[in-house]
Amino acid sequence: MDWPQSTCYLNGEWLPLAEAKISVLDRGFIFGDGIYEVVPVYFRKPFRLDHHLARFERSTREIGLANPLDRAGWRAVVDGLIDRCVDQNQFIYWQVTRGVAKRDFAFPAGTPPTVFAMSSPFTRPSREQREQGLRAVTRADERWLRCDIKSVSLLGAVLARQFAAEHHADEVVQFRDGSLTEGSSSNMWVVRNDTVIGAPRDRLILEGIRYGFVAELCDRTGTQFEVRRLRQEEVEGCDELMLTSATREILPIVSLEKIQNRDEPDDNRRKRSQSAFTHDRAPRFLRQTPNNKNIVSNTGTRPILMTFRTVPSRSMS
Ligand code: PMP
Repeated sequence: MDWPQSTCYLNGEWLPLAEAKISVLDRGFIFGDGIYEVVPVYFRKPFRLDHHLARFERSTREIGLANPLDRAGWRAVVDGLIDRCVDQNQFIYWQVTRGVAKRDFAFPAGTPPTVFAMSSPFTRPSREQREQGLRAVTRADERWLRCDIKSVSLLGAVLARQFAAEHHADEVVQFRDGSLTEGSSSNMWVVRNDTVIGAPRDRLILEGIRYGFVAELCDRTGTQFEVRRLRQEEVEGCDELMLTSATREILPIVSLEKIQNRDEPDDNRRKRSQSAFTHDRAPRFLRQTPNNKNIVSNTGTRPILMTFRTVPSRSMS
């Protein structure tokens, strides 16, 4: 592997990423027993760090994992990573696992957690991606029932994203019991009749930091915003579809291909490649302004707000 020449943080030490080592008995490696976060950095400033820290605290609480650092401690790690990385835009990844212990399912007593953090250059979505949008395929949500926890056990997400890749798509749009949940690593937004609709913030989705941001944008711009269960047919017949995540920010999905489930009768499976919808360009809700800034617009003539500024202003972060 070609190691990036970057410095990472491991259990209180700063060291080259290529030299960072953990034990094979680490419970993150053995069980996926840990929590992580991904924070985008724009022009050397972390975006909504407090929101990420709050989500991290909640996830650790949910799995009974002691958070090894307080907010000041985490901020120092994040600042240390930003300082050690030359790039203006970065994304910070950190994870904490339940540490190194003899392999046994129940929590070990008195084991210190493993704390790891690194920064990587962040290539923001390209103009082409923003303008041309992404392709997605439908998929039954086969993940566990605690998707609200930002767990490092990501096999469900890995299989979902691989499913998208095998169908030449960028993301999956997942449904559980016929209702929209989310993408493999993104929240999904449906636009119907000029209303932005998101799935409920329950245990079936991870509440992205950009979830609250979309809600705020709608609030500030007088755009109708709704949170409710969305049936698959409503998603397939929507006006527009978008996804949000730290690394993909906000991107339109311009084609949604309906893939029948494996367990459906053959007849249906023959029709498996139905196009639920295709737009030939980014839909009107998400537009590119002439000065290359991404805005949410509900009319195309009335730009109502930028979604992700290159430099997050105090009022937006
Ligand atoms: N849902 C899932 C399953 C995710 O993995 C992610 C991104 N990690 C999100 C939603 C979006 O969260 P955020 O906006 O914080 O990146």
